[in-house]
Amino acid sequence: MRLYDTHAHYNDGKFEDYEGGASALLSHLHEHEGVDFVLNAATSLESCKQVLALAEEFDFCYCALGIHPEDCGKEKSPEEAVNALRELLKHKKALAVGEIGLDYYWEENPPKETQIAYFEAQMALARELSLPVVIHDREAHGDVFDILSRYPDVTAVLHSYSGSPEMARQYLQNPNRYISFSGVLTFKNAVKTVETAKIVPVSRILSETDCPYLAPVPYRGKMNHSGYMAKTVEKLSEIKGIPVEELAEVLEENAKRVFGL
Ligand SMILES: [Zn+2]
Repeated sequence: MRLYDTHAHYNDGKFEDYEGGASALLSHLHEHEGVDFVLNAATSLESCKQVLALAEEFDFCYCALGIHPEDCGKEKSPEEAVNALRELLKHKKALAVGEIGLDYYWEENPPKETQIAYFEAQMALARELSLPVVIHDREAHGDVFDILSRYPDVTAVLHSYSGSPEMARQYLQNPNRYISFSGVLTFKNAVKTVETAKIVPVSRILSETDCPYLAPVPYRGKMNHSGYMAKTVEKLSEIKGIPVEELAEVLEENAKRVFGL
């Protein structure tokens, strides 16, 4: 099975636990585990440079560039951040603006107004550059939905989707919306996520790891990588009643369509 991992963080320091680090792991995954596409998502201007370096090192690695809600306000104003991103996004392997969005889960996160200002500025940039966006939404479902609805023309991927099936249904009324499932789908307590997967047409689904986090069962709690994504695809194939090889092909087509490959 060919694996298209649409959300990863191989620039994360945790990959140093693997002998030879992220580069050795990526080579192994590409040569032996069918991993044919990895989109590394940046979270800050500093990490933009790291994911671009990985995209230059490996043909099958691409990246999304953006400021994560937890990181906004730390480096530059929204305008300055967008100006820096606009330059970086000229790189031919930068395929999306991300990961961007809102995170109301952690109390120590930047204030809502700050998060919203960066999110909106980056949505406007995606529209200006005709690029898709990769969305992080944690405990901010209503605000994320409202902001995205002002950008119906921008293709948006709801990364590691954690909203309700009802909200997914509303998102999917717009043909430019995609729901991405991570290893969370395999967790025992992921009832809502499984219910969502049941109602999303396969043509609107992407698969991802969010590695090194969110390893699927039976690797839950371990350092995640794109090879483990096979477990998530198997779970999806069970839920959708589609043979796993066939589903993997659809997921590949979807990823290519969204990211313009
Ligand atoms: Zn992520």
